[in-house]
Amino acid sequence: MKRSIALFIILTLLICAVGCAPLPEPADTFVAAMDTEMTLRLYGDTDGSAAKYLTAELFRLDAVFSPTEESSTLYSLNRFKTIRDADILSLLQTADEISARTNGALDVTLLPLSRLWGFIGASYYLPTADEIAETSRRTGTDKYEVVDDSVRLKGDAELDFGALAKGYAADVCRAYLEGLDMPALLTLGGNVQSVGDKPGGEPWMIGIQDPRQPEACIMTLALRGTNAVVTSGDYQRCFDLDGVRYCHIIDPATGSPVQNDLCSVTIVADSGVLADGLSTALFVMGPDAAFEHWRQSDDFEAVFVLKDGTVYVTEGLKGAVRNCNFEVVSR
Ligand code: AMP
Ligand code: MG
Repeated sequence: MKRSIALFIILTLLICAVGCAPLPEPADTFVAAMDTEMTLRLYGDTDGSAAKYLTAELFRLDAVFSPTEESSTLYSLNRFKTIRDADILSLLQTADEISARTNGALDVTLLPLSRLWGFIGASYYLPTADEIAETSRRTGTDKYEVVDDSVRLKGDAELDFGALAKGYAADVCRAYLEGLDMPALLTLGGNVQSVGDKPGGEPWMIGIQDPRQPEACIMTLALRGTNAVVTSGDYQRCFDLDGVRYCHIIDPATGSPVQNDLCSVTIVADSGVLADGLSTALFVMGPDAAFEHWRQSDDFEAVFVLKDGTVYVTEGLKGAVRNCNFEVVSR
């Protein structure tokens, strides 16, 4: 009898110790890297060592992928036309896969066109058709090759991982945090990455920017567990001329900023780099081809905001949407 009472007390204490354990506290760290502002919200990083490690990783990746910083690895590739670098090789291989599945909508060779249109350095310019044709000769996924793990550029080609690098960085951070079993919500500019379940049992609430009122949210997504949520839009870096909006995402087929019915595309996927690459590629493809690509895939969900204000949400995400009217894209 005494033994069973003792056992009961021990069990009660154990359950209470687990059940009543204080929730890990969130702590925010701000990082300015990759041309954007980032917030790392880590739960339970009591000595700040995880934030310190991730900050260093983000600066390291910035120093690899910056297309404009003269000391970066990518700058060196674009200048000297060859490099052997594990991060660049890995991201280029992922870019190739996403480019293949989206009929070339994602193309990491468009830097000369981005420069021509003035999106590098925000000195916007409306080029002539001849200038676009001339510059387009330097672009295309046939303008690079991988030989013995080295990336080589042909002629005067240049690479730009602006469509993918933040997603790649989010994956690097996620892998580290998963190793520590540390929940987190990372905001790397327009890329949000949740890691693990939010302590306390509530879902992560992730706002999607309203493309026509970027300081407000068009909806909130209530998501559990680990997800990458990445938005590409026509409002992020753009200029308006004679009633036409020119945005920083270039259609490789025309050499000009994308013109279609979309204002923004948000992708939800397990992988940050996939979500980032697809958000850019599906924005290029336009709504109909993008819906079709979702129907043929099983590795992402999406939210589309059209210029006429309609919001489309793919079937798998409809239960997660808060505070927004929308149409459902079905299989
Ligand atoms: P994101 O904001 O992720 O959609 O990426 C847009 C950035 O990717 C641009 O600022 C360019 O640096 C680059 N970019 C523009 N158009 C494309 C494209 N069609 N494919 C790949 N990268 C692109
Ligand atoms: Mg992207």
